[in-house]
Amino acid sequence: MSQSEDSSVLRKPYIAANWKMNLDRAKALDLTKTLKARLGDGDDREVAVFAPFVYLADVAAVSQGSPIGLGAQNVHWEKSGAFTGETSAPMLRDVGVDRVLIGHSERRQIFLEKEEWMGRKIRQALDHDILPMLCVGETLDERKKGKVAAVLRRQVRSALDWVEASEIHRLCIAYEPIWAIGTGEVATPDQASEAHSIVRDVIADMFGDAVAGSFRVLYGGSVSKDNVRDLMSVPDVDGVLVGGASLKAETFLPIIEYDR
Ligand code: PEP
Repeated sequence: MSQSEDSSVLRKPYIAANWKMNLDRAKALDLTKTLKARLGDGDDREVAVFAPFVYLADVAAVSQGSPIGLGAQNVHWEKSGAFTGETSAPMLRDVGVDRVLIGHSERRQIFLEKEEWMGRKIRQALDHDILPMLCVGETLDERKKGKVAAVLRRQVRSALDWVEASEIHRLCIAYEPIWAIGTGEVATPDQASEAHSIVRDVIADMFGDAVAGSFRVLYGGSVSKDNVRDLMSVPDVDGVLVGGASLKAETFLPIIEYDR
């Protein structure tokens, strides 16, 4: 297998739904059933849903026997203790979760999660066999001030300080420019390409070129059926994290089934 074939296998397109605090139990399960019925064996693309905590066990039961990955939207950095309102990695594992979002901008901005927590959360997830998806991205103000590279480098470096090179294949990063989340404004393929190569360069600096070449970087921010193909045709874009358009089968399925 050549190096490029090898990296295309390792970097299988990854389409992820972030349901945030949306849907009710019936709608979440209906949508899961529809995805399950429509997905094949999951061989050519990886699909996952990041569901609200209270529906995780039910979504796990419905998606059983399908290749759909099941993710939580947050995790605590300790495995148990006096942390009212929080959920630990062993608890997530217990209900069938196999992946987790870490550092989504809504957690950082609205709930004031600190940058120094991200690495500890990643560590905790990995230690309990849960695949972390680290979310990074700049504000509009940071973009206007030319700080995109500095922000991304800082966010990625500080979070991955807790990871060994041998573990990096279990992680992925979602580049989500904050100005594009839920706004209908999407990064251009050039903007996505630039940001993704900054992220990949940091991985190369920290863990070497071979690791960086097999590492998946997703784009998130107003992805829809109309822009997914352009975004996925950017060489450094390995997948998409989808919010609003992931809430209904009619908007999410065409994204999953985008034409390569
Ligand atoms: C998100 O918040 O992860 C996201 C990508 O949202 P949207 O697709 O709605 O912009």
